[in-house]
Amino acid sequence: MRKLNPEKIKEIIRSNIKGIDAIEVIPVVSLKAAARKVFQSINKGYIPESYNWDRKKTEHAYSYKNYKSWAKSIIVAAKYYYTDEEYPKEKQTGRIARFTWRNNYRYLSFKLEEAVKAISKIYRVPVKSEVLSNYTSIPEKLLFSYSGIAEFGKNCVLINRQMGSFFIIGEALTDLVFDFDEAGVLTPPDFSICGECDRCLTSCPTGAIPRSGEIDINRCFQYISENLILMPPEYREKWGSRLYGCSICIEVCPYNNNLEPWAEKHSIGYVGQGMDLISVLKIPVKDWTRTFSHNQIGIHDRMALIKNVITSLGYLKFKKSLDSLYPYLYHENEVIRAYTAWAIGNINTKTGKKRLSSRYKEETSKTVREEIITFL
Ligand code: SF4
Ligand code: SF4
Repeated sequence: MRKLNPEKIKEIIRSNIKGIDAIEVIPVVSLKAAARKVFQSINKGYIPESYNWDRKKTEHAYSYKNYKSWAKSIIVAAKYYYTDEEYPKEKQTGRIARFTWRNNYRYLSFKLEEAVKAISKIYRVPVKSEVLSNYTSIPEKLLFSYSGIAEFGKNCVLINRQMGSFFIIGEALTDLVFDFDEAGVLTPPDFSICGECDRCLTSCPTGAIPRSGEIDINRCFQYISENLILMPPEYREKWGSRLYGCSICIEVCPYNNNLEPWAEKHSIGYVGQGMDLISVLKIPVKDWTRTFSHNQIGIHDRMALIKNVITSLGYLKFKKSLDSLYPYLYHENEVIRAYTAWAIGNINTKTGKKRLSSRYKEETSKTVREEIITFL
């Protein structure tokens, strides 16, 4: 097959597939230099142990090992997600980060699959491809910045001048051969789009952005919201009413002010802007999958979300939640018991303290006992 013109392919995708908000076709660009930045993050301890991520895995991912034998080009695409829907205002509603209100990753993956099919049909050739969006070790943001559609902000999030940072990305690695002008060299992010601004660095509640372009994932509320881990009390004091995610460093970015809310309100994996916190505690296990399975929330440990709810109720000092919290003092998982002790203690009622005191007598976990004793 002759070499294809990237412009022509983009035109085919634009006219045949609705719902992709930006598209570019790029070569399988070398990521070797970028891998060094990841090695630095590993050395600094910014990547949580639970990721089980090391130099070897970085080298594997950054050399496209799983796709190397056949991938010749990458179609990168973006889906804008800024709508006129608003974050919940009710105090007892747990907040879900904007990018999670619906499953845009799945939406974009469908669209990219359709795009590949359209190319295959029009050129009457089989196209080998792998569509990825978010759940991949391939450094998607680097590919996207290479495409020129967006640039890296100091918060490590991509910025596009029309869509701000309110877009998610996906890509199709393909065996299509293009007539590219350039050899494909990646230049490191220079954050020039940010100028003197450092709003994301100073607004991050946990200081998880220590320097431009560096994220200490261990400290990031997004990561913490996805995992059943015990965060220090000083982070809990800043937790707010999070049910899932954070995105403060995106919400404060000036590029995200005054955007037009033209994103499609599709229904794939729609969970809304928030949920009543006590109601989430009451979702039966059997209904949990039905509630979240089509949304990215559903891939995480249910108890990580329950921990978020417990922390929010404690942060909000929501007295009416106490009866729903007490049973979690007896939960089989000590991290859940520790958060519950903190929440009940923070809500600070006489009955709550009595419950903590009685639990203390039979509690065997040192971690939980330490949480309880600070309130007795
Ligand atoms: S998502 Fe939240 S905690 Fe994480 S870096 Fe951004 S502002 Fe900080
Ligand atoms: S908030 Fe400022 S520094 Fe951070 S990404 Fe946006 S423009 Fe850059």
